[in-house]
Amino acid sequence: MPRREYTSTVRCADAGCGETTFYVYETRREEAEGFASRKRYPWKCIRHRKPEELLGVDNPRRELTFVVAMRPWEYYEQDKAEYERELARNRYTRRKPPREFWDKPFWLGEDGRWQSSLWGEGFRAIAEDLPVGTKLRLVVEVEVADVRP
Ligand SMILES: [Zn+2]
Repeated sequence: MPRREYTSTVRCADAGCGETTFYVYETRREEAEGFASRKRYPWKCIRHRKPEELLGVDNPRRELTFVVAMRPWEYYEQDKAEYERELARNRYTRRKPPREFWDKPFWLGEDGRWQSSLWGEGFRAIAEDLPVGTKLRLVVEVEVADVRP
């Protein structure tokens, strides 16, 4: 039996943009999930997804700084409370004290995002290969051609 496919053409959510993409689904259920997902996170084309990142005549340069840092363990407070409750019940507990940080450093971006490695056109940098406090400065620039006659 030939496989059935459901395709859906989607238009960029930016007002006035005519860019489209399409999705292919194997079932109606997947199609419905995709539709629901795009309602929450409307699709935008490469030009409109993160407009601040789009280089051009008016935005020829971007500079971002990342720093190697120890990433706080997200469950520390919760683990600490559990550990203290356990300690109150049994001061000879064999349970290990909660960890405060992940076991390796990460890159911390200006947007507060943590990443174990960074990569782009022509480079890769793994946070755990470098000492805490190391900075990576990413500079991209277009030299706009002068087209005046
Ligand atoms: Zn668009």
